[in-house]
Amino acid sequence: MIEIKNLSKSFKGKTSNVEALKDINLIIYKGEIFGIIGLSGAGKSTLIRTINRLEEPTEGTIFIEDTDIIKLDKKKLRSTRKEIGMIFQHFNLLNSRTVFENIAFPLEISGYDKSSIEKRVNELLEVVELADKKDAYPSQLSGGQKQRVAIARALANNPKILLCDEATSALDPKTTKAILNLLKKIQQEFNLTVVLITHQMEVIKEICNRVAIIEDGKIIELNTVEEIFAKP
Ligand code: ADP
Ligand code: ADP
Repeated sequence: MIEIKNLSKSFKGKTSNVEALKDINLIIYKGEIFGIIGLSGAGKSTLIRTINRLEEPTEGTIFIEDTDIIKLDKKKLRSTRKEIGMIFQHFNLLNSRTVFENIAFPLEISGYDKSSIEKRVNELLEVVELADKKDAYPSQLSGGQKQRVAIARALANNPKILLCDEATSALDPKTTKAILNLLKKIQQEFNLTVVLITHQMEVIKEICNRVAIIEDGKIIELNTVEEIFAKP
């Protein structure tokens, strides 16, 4: 469970501050696919980035199970982050490394030995169906294939939570659907809690259990996808 309490974030500006998040309260349950939707500038990115502390909140707390992640020191944060995978709109792969090496990267940082890294990366390549591309470089891959590599890399350390920051926004509709199906499959296979942000309604309809609508830094509606779309 992820419990977000009284979360606020303001960015300092030259003349005035930008209040990106205003007193957000939210519970995301274990094993659900939770969507956050809103227009550009609504605060989606800031919100999802605070969950693994890529962004520090101005106020408030975030509990992951019993751990207040906002209070963790650097060392403990590093180990907690292994339980949180993340994927991005522009994939954020290392361009000078092969597919295999990109997926191996977090495992090398974790200090695993060569043979267990090789075993794990090969397993992950099967999960994302890219075994035949393991020696390719990112520049040789399509957008959908790049996102598959990013998904494999995010899963490397066996996280409990997967954060998806506009993960399909750079992809065409057909590829989007394939990536969403993959996310659904791995959510079930690894019993992940998935939190995704998007500005695309189709993404929410396709895979989310519940959805929060965010506007101007505030959650203005929170419900199951069925309820939200059942409205006249
Ligand atoms: P979204 O992801 O919904 O497009 P963001 O979370 O990126 O929204 O941004 C919310 C608000 O915070 C916007 O007004 C944006 O300009 C501002 N903002 C985001 N990041 C920063 C930053 N690093 N510095 C200053 N303002 C920022
Ligand atoms: P994307 O849409 O690809 O997720 P953005 O352009 O929203 O990326 O943001 C890219 C980076 O710039 C993020 O780290 C975000 O926090 C930061 N950012 C967003 N808005 C602002 C802003 N108004 N001022 C400074 N930094 C910002």
